[in-house]
Amino acid sequence: MDAQDLEFDRRHLWHPYTSMVDPLPSYPVHAAQGVELELTDGRKLVDGMASWWCAIHGYGVPELNKAITDQLSRMSHVMFGGITHQPAVDLGRQLVKMTPEALNKVFLADSGSVSVEVALKMAIQYQQSIGTPRHRFVALSRGYHGDTTGAMSVCDPVGGMHSLFNGYLPENLFLPEPPQGFDTPLDAEYLQQCHRVLAAHQDELAALIVEPVVQGAGGMRFYNPEYLRHFRQWCDEFGILLIFDEIATGFGRTGKLFALEHANVVPDILCLGKAITGGYMTLAATMTTTSVAETISRGAAGVFMHGPTFMGNPLACAVANASLNLLEASHWQTKVRAIETQLRAELLPLKRLENVQDVRVLGAIGVVQCTETVDVKALQKRFVELGVWIRPFREVIYIMPPYVISPLQLSRLSSSIKEVLLRGV
Ligand SMILES: *Cc1c(COP(=O)(O)O)cnc(C)c1O
Repeated sequence: MDAQDLEFDRRHLWHPYTSMVDPLPSYPVHAAQGVELELTDGRKLVDGMASWWCAIHGYGVPELNKAITDQLSRMSHVMFGGITHQPAVDLGRQLVKMTPEALNKVFLADSGSVSVEVALKMAIQYQQSIGTPRHRFVALSRGYHGDTTGAMSVCDPVGGMHSLFNGYLPENLFLPEPPQGFDTPLDAEYLQQCHRVLAAHQDELAALIVEPVVQGAGGMRFYNPEYLRHFRQWCDEFGILLIFDEIATGFGRTGKLFALEHANVVPDILCLGKAITGGYMTLAATMTTTSVAETISRGAAGVFMHGPTFMGNPLACAVANASLNLLEASHWQTKVRAIETQLRAELLPLKRLENVQDVRVLGAIGVVQCTETVDVKALQKRFVELGVWIRPFREVIYIMPPYVISPLQLSRLSSSIKEVLLRGV
């Protein structure tokens, strides 16, 4: 990649959440192997982001490479309407086995946002089918569920995009965000407040959607898993379906295979994505119960009304199967626990710094919340100079590395964070 390529990129290619007038720089990556991204100039960066929660096994993983090339030699894609295939069946089996017993119907979607749309549509069709049509959703403030329209409408109403798309987005209801902290005791007043809101609006609410335990892109907040039990109870009380969005937290990231296991609460609908293919391809899944699936199927439409072109893509399913097999065989719990212990030792002391508001660690997630919004451009440049790939947002510098990261590589990430906090950029 030369200067002209970069110039073309700058002029013609949108990047996530960027300006076409004054885009932040993009760093050209030429290859990725293990836990390192290699820039075109040969510099290697230790990856602290796992490509946004996805690359849990790192890059260039032999088992995943083999799965995808083997599948490629048979077929890369066929339609899923009227056709089925081994990779989809194998993946369905794996997902049904890994998730709580009640979740045994699988809808394969092509991205996390689409799996959220599917979950919302399932809830609407379900409520219609039982003869009590309800057309609104309730979500948590500070939540993030994706960028498509339905998903946006349940993202945080302030930090999200509601004001921008006002008039276009459905107007949903929001509970306040749960108090910060995995170990913070339950707040009785908060519980009462939520219960009051749900009680007052129960007749219009199709479902409550939450990210269990970790609110990711809305600010990397953790909350007490016990709140999930109350959400479950209220949903049962008011006939509201409960949707868990585990697109970020699924597949071991928080120290449990799924974050819902921290409270042993089973939702009616579960969204999975991101790490499902080990970061190789885009794929997601929306899982639900027999009761929800059959109720929908006995409703007016007689079917669930969704079916993307690339549904159940064989390449994506094949690599997902390999990734989930590898996860099971990989002692991920030991690795995630080791990452957690090391992150606590290396990051928690940063709490003392005066430009640091809070530091928190859960599983293989480390978060340093600064007192002020950070200069992403300058910070990113400094991190690259220090040989690490960390992309902060707002006032949050966070890492969620591949589980295969070595203690030395992990130290490199934490010491780089310490360096920029101590000495600036
Ligand atoms: C990333 C994410 C999504 C959206 O997934 P995409 O694959 O980017 O569409 C939804 N919910 C959560 C919690 C996420 O972290």
